[in-house]
Amino acid sequence: FEEQWHAQQELENKIQLRTKELSAALEEIKVVSKRKSDFINAVSHELRTPLTSIKGYASILAAGKLGELPAAAKERVEKINKHSDNLSELINGLLDISRIESGRVEMKLEPLDLLNMAQSLADMLAPPMKDKNVEFVVDIPEGLPQVRADKGQLERVFINLIGNAIKFTPPGGKITVAARPVDNAMIQVGVSDTGIGISEHDLKKLGEEFFRVDNDVNAKVKGTGLGLSLVKRIIEAHQGTFSISSQLNHGSTFSFTLPKM
Ligand code: ADP
Repeated sequence: FEEQWHAQQELENKIQLRTKELSAALEEIKVVSKRKSDFINAVSHELRTPLTSIKGYASILAAGKLGELPAAAKERVEKINKHSDNLSELINGLLDISRIESGRVEMKLEPLDLLNMAQSLADMLAPPMKDKNVEFVVDIPEGLPQVRADKGQLERVFINLIGNAIKFTPPGGKITVAARPVDNAMIQVGVSDTGIGISEHDLKKLGEEFFRVDNDVNAKVKGTGLGLSLVKRIIEAHQGTFSISSQLNHGSTFSFTLPKM
C-alpha cells in the first residue's frame, strides 16, 4: 500500500512540474506574440506617414495644380496614385489585424440574430449578386438561438466571406449562408459557394498572410490577401474557430463558430 502511495505522490509531483513548465511556456508565447503585434503596429504606423505624403504630392501633380503634365507623365503619376492606394489598403489591413490580435479592438458583445443579419446582408449585396448572376440562399432556421458577438465585426466577417464568394463564383452559381447549433454552447455558420474552389496544395497556404491563389480571377482583380487572416482573427477574438474546406472546380465552404448568447 505504501509503495502505491509513493508512486502516486511521485506521479502527482511530475504532473505539477509539467503543468508549471507548460504555463511558463504559454506565458512566453504570449509575450512573443505581443511583441510581434506591437512590431507590426509600429511598422504600419511608420509606413503610413511617408505614404500619405507621397500620395499628397502625386495628387497635386495629377490634378495639374503645378501646370498641365505631358500625357506620359500624367500616366505615371496616376500609377503612383493607384499603387499608393493599394499600399495604404495593405497597411490598414495589417493595422486592423494587429489591433484585433492584441486585443486593442474592444469587442462590443451583444445578442445578435443571424437570420436577421443574413437577410439585411442579402438586401445590401443584391446588386452585385444580380450583376454577376449568382443566386443567394439563406439557410438559417427561424428561432435559432442568438449569438454573442460584436455587430460591426461580424458584419465585416460576412462581407469579406460573401464578397470573396461573389468574386470567385462564375455566373449561374450559388452562394449559401447557413447556420446551425453545434452543441449547447456554440452555433456554426457556413458561407458556401459553387465557385472555382481551392486545390489541396493552396488550401494549406491559405492561413498565411498575403497568400493569394495564382489563378485567372486574382490576375484580374486586385486584393490584399489579408481578408481571410482578418476574418480568422475576428472569430478567434470571439472565442470561436474558423475553418475552410474546398474542392477545386466545385466550390468552397468557409465555416466558423460563435458562442450562443
Ligand atoms: P483577397 O481576396 O484580397 O485576395 P483573402 O484573404 O480574402 O484575400 O483571400 C485569399 C485568397 O483565398 C484569395 O486570393 C483566393 O485565392 C482564395 N479565396 C478566398 N475565398 C475564396 C472562394 N470563395 N473561392 C475560391 N478561392 C477563394
